[in-house]
Amino acid sequence: MKLFGRRYDNGEPTCVEIAGGKIVGAETLASAERQTSCWPWIAPGLFDIQVNGYGGQEFSSADLTPEQVIAIVQEYAAFGVTRFCPTLFTASYEVLRHGLKTIVAACNSSPETARRIAAIHVEGPYISKDDGPRGAHPLEHCRPPDWDEFQRLQEAADGQIRILTMSVEFDDSPGFIERVTRTGVVVAIGHTSADSAHIRAAVDAGARLSTHLGNGCHLTMPVYPNYFWDQLAEDQLAASLIVDGHHLPASVVKTFVRVKTLERCLLISDVSGWAGRPPGRYTAGHGELEILPDGKLVVAGQRQLLAGASRPIGAGVANVMRFAGVSLTEAIDMATTHPARLLSMPLGGLQPGDPADLVLFDLDLAEPDDEATLPEFAVRCTVSGGEVVWGTPWQP
Ligand SMILES: [Zn+2]
Repeated sequence: MKLFGRRYDNGEPTCVEIAGGKIVGAETLASAERQTSCWPWIAPGLFDIQVNGYGGQEFSSADLTPEQVIAIVQEYAAFGVTRFCPTLFTASYEVLRHGLKTIVAACNSSPETARRIAAIHVEGPYISKDDGPRGAHPLEHCRPPDWDEFQRLQEAADGQIRILTMSVEFDDSPGFIERVTRTGVVVAIGHTSADSAHIRAAVDAGARLSTHLGNGCHLTMPVYPNYFWDQLAEDQLAASLIVDGHHLPASVVKTFVRVKTLERCLLISDVSGWAGRPPGRYTAGHGELEILPDGKLVVAGQRQLLAGASRPIGAGVANVMRFAGVSLTEAIDMATTHPARLLSMPLGGLQPGDPADLVLFDLDLAEPDDEATLPEFAVRCTVSGGEVVWGTPWQP
């Protein structure tokens, strides 16, 4: 199979040749007499390390089935996502165990699902009980870290948990983080009430990521010190950012990207299991949710509290370029190689030998007439393991 597109990293019109699930050639085409501005972009498939479900189904659910997991994986192909981490948020041990075992069962029954589920992310249950940092996580299930429980969860997940988002203000947090880190799991700080000393101790113990920095926090706090500055200033922490246009104002995105540096920033969607549903009020396992007409997902009756996101990671690629002034190459890297590097996984790329996990998309880089209009990341075709799994390849 041959795929044609403009390379995301240099804009050159390129033919990528695929065989046996891998890229076997990437040839730059003569562009002198060709008008290439109508060509789609071609880039490695996107990698989203925080995805809670889709279409009304959460991964963190007592009734999740392997068939639903397989269906969600397929639906994400429409967003250009070829690798992602199903994310289970705070719930009882039984619900978490069920969700983890179900994801493993889905991977065991579908090799394609196993390929695209890079790892599992568990967000909670070891998070702050405070309103604000707790976000939409159910209060009754928030608890201090428990090493025995975590080991049992990892066993249920067949060792596939690779990210644990937790708060770090508990007495035994550093010891717990050290043990978890030693097993190859990335510990991320999130939904936290931690003070400066807690953040310092967590990083010393091995924490390496701030989960959705700037979200899941107190509505009011001291100007300083606070856990934003501590995490922003900590060079050992990468930061995942939800750049959907709802979760963080443009100025905050720009500041975070400049301060953390591009290399330490990665994009996530944090898409809720309720994304993909029409606007309205819904009863989720952990409370009432509302999807507003603009797609914003909030805790019902508390519109200042976001309950997750509804826009795919490609929206973040388009928005971060506008908000933080980064290039297309840098924005794509934030949604491909940076998450892969965090998890010590193959980075992906457009070179011979790289896996044929690719996305073709349209994205208008021209300055818009209207400042408020954000460019759309429009997926044309997604290729996973050398097969077209969504859309149609483009022919010049
Ligand atoms: Zn969260």
